[in-house]
Amino acid sequence: MPALSIGEFVKQVKMEKIDVLENTHLILDEIKSSNEEFSHFNLIAEEFALQQANEIEAEIKTGRHRGRLLGVPISVKDCVCVKGIESKAGSKILSGYKPTFDATVIERLKVEGAIIIGKTSQDEFGFGSFSVNTGIGFPVPKNPLDKNRSCGGSSGGSAGFTALTNLTHASIAESTGGSIACPASFCGVVGFTPTYGRVSRYGLIDYANSLDKIGTMGKSVEDAALLLEIIAGPDTKDSTSLQNAIGEYSNADSNIRGIKIGVVKELNEKCDESIRQVTGEAIMKLRKEEAEVVDVSLPLNSTYGMAAYYLISMSEASTNLARYCGMRYGLHQKLQGSFNQYFTRVRSSGFGKEAKRRILLGTFARMSGFRDAYYLKAMKVRTKLINEFKEVFKKVDLLVHPTMPIVAPKFDEIAKLTPLQNYAMDLCTIPANLAGLPHISVNAGSSKKMPVGLMLTADHLQEQKLVRAAKAVEEVVK
Ligand code: GLN
Repeated sequence: MPALSIGEFVKQVKMEKIDVLENTHLILDEIKSSNEEFSHFNLIAEEFALQQANEIEAEIKTGRHRGRLLGVPISVKDCVCVKGIESKAGSKILSGYKPTFDATVIERLKVEGAIIIGKTSQDEFGFGSFSVNTGIGFPVPKNPLDKNRSCGGSSGGSAGFTALTNLTHASIAESTGGSIACPASFCGVVGFTPTYGRVSRYGLIDYANSLDKIGTMGKSVEDAALLLEIIAGPDTKDSTSLQNAIGEYSNADSNIRGIKIGVVKELNEKCDESIRQVTGEAIMKLRKEEAEVVDVSLPLNSTYGMAAYYLISMSEASTNLARYCGMRYGLHQKLQGSFNQYFTRVRSSGFGKEAKRRILLGTFARMSGFRDAYYLKAMKVRTKLINEFKEVFKKVDLLVHPTMPIVAPKFDEIAKLTPLQNYAMDLCTIPANLAGLPHISVNAGSSKKMPVGLMLTADHLQEQKLVRAAKAVEEVVK
């Protein structure tokens, strides 16, 4: 039986047709047994989840129930802080770090009666597209549709488990350059990334501050949209949080008559033929729903997006990681030798290979003498790329293209990629992320028995439009 939508689940909980404690046990049992095989969780918050479930059950019994997520199991990417629960962003260097506070998104989930069930696996600090760059000692999550393939990354565990479970569940994920859309596409679920600043980053373990966005994953557009609606909105604890009002995203209808959709030529062309076939058919069906479909071009974004993104993201990452030196958070070792020797020892044994690569490249790009040529130049390019998007959005409401150029790759195929080939896999997801534009990846069908995602992008703050079109895709590809 397919999972109930979150809305339906909450209704049944309120009518006492679903027992929250029983349901929580059920999902925890599923996680415990599936995790040995699939490693979607870095931490299963069993005790914590059962305690929350008990509290909610008690409330229901007294008729004081509250919230739009009453009793709904929600998993959280490891990089989002949950009070009292080890939060490591998938890195050994944060071993033992238990935040003394909740991220704003977690506070908001708790108010609505959600049950936090655990921390999902990811590339260390978000550095990757396949969740194979996990930290030292962390297992690699596996795609539930084929264990030899990747879940995508960096929010691999979130997507993997959302696809695997048949119980009602949604997940909090994070994207810097595509980490929500990519795994959603590879696992056949919905991944919703908001406008930069829509959702507070307070309590997020940073990758690159000017790019990071917390977003959601769900089995349906409605679930992902509801979760976003709940976590979005102004927050005084994050100075980049936007003041704009939040729409009722989950209630948006699927009517796309007259909506103008631009197929991004250059991004489409760079995808595998079999992928283009699947997404092309979905787009044709949207046309039948009377959406107006035209070709558009983003030459600057498709040529320079990747280079600008990796320069900026690595520069920011290298400064963010400087705080992990074995003094304040997580990993500590015996204080011996000079401070430099101590820091080097902790950082050498705590960071994985990709994190080290990014520290080196990012530090280089910011060094005096190179700063103007690399980091500052990339910032200027970024402005031009945003302007290119703004011009296109004068002509169309939404942009569309495949989320990823391939289906979820096999692990032995990934092992053969050079770092540069690996980075190039993000060509479709990077432009929207660099420009801080809201986007959603929704399943459009399958190729080689693996899911293919379609990515829709809207102008800043136009999440509502995105939900409508994504619901339409969901309906036409059914
Ligand atoms: N794959 C991209 C990177 O490695 C994006 C990751 C992300 O969005 N966190 O930077």
